Amino acid sequence: MTIAARSLPALSLDVANLPPAPQVVQIEVGLLQNFCEILFCPETRAAAIVDPAWEADRLLRECDARGLRVTHALITHTHEDHIEGVEEVVRRTGAVVVVSPREAEALAGAGGARLDVVDRLDVAIGRRGVRALDTPGHTVGGTCYLADGFLITGDVLFVGGCVAGVYLLHRKWTSGAFHKGLDNNSPDQLYYKF
Ligand SMILES: [Zn+2]
Repeated sequence: MTIAARSLPALSLDVANLPPAPQVVQIEVGLLQNFCEILFCPETRAAAIVDPAWEADRLLRECDARGLRVTHALITHTHEDHIEGVEEVVRRTGAVVVVSPREAEALAGAGGARLDVVDRLDVAIGRRGVRALDTPGHTVGGTCYLADGFLITGDVLFVGGCVAGVYLLHRKWTSGAFHKGLDNNSPDQLYYKF
C-alpha cells in the first residue's frame, strides 16, 4: 500500500500572502553531504545563510563573490552538522540568528542577536522573505522555511529520501547517537513511524 492510496487529512498549510521568494544558491559542504543555502534579495543584496556549517569561510566567500551582505543565519535545527559555522558567520557579519527558542541554548555561545522563531513567522531578507514553520520531530525545535516556490526542510526530509527521527535535542556530535534510528526511510516507513 502506498501513501497515495490512504485517506490522509488535507493539509492546511498557510501559504497566503507569502513574501516574494528570495533567490537561492545551494552549496554542498563538509563530508556529510550537508547542504547549505544562501538566500538573497537581488535588489538589496541582503542574504541569509541556512544552517552554516563546516565551510563557513567558503560560504562567506560565495556571498562576497555575489556582492551579498549577510543579515541572517536561519537555523533549521541545532545538530552540530547544521550549526558548526554559526559562530564564525555571526562574528564576521553580525548576522541575526533565527532559531527556535526550544533549541536556542545550543547557540548560546555563538554570540550575536537572536530572533526567536514562532510558527508562521515571516523573516524578511531584504525585500524578499521566507515563512518559518514549526516542525518538531527530528528535533524538538525543528523549523522549516517556506518560500514562494520551495521549502527548506533541514533534516525533516532529505533530498532523495526521508528521515524519521524522534530525537531530543543533543548539541554535540556523537556518531552513535546521531545514527541511531536515523535511517534512510521510504515514504511508507516514514508514514508508519509517525
Ligand atoms: Zn539533524
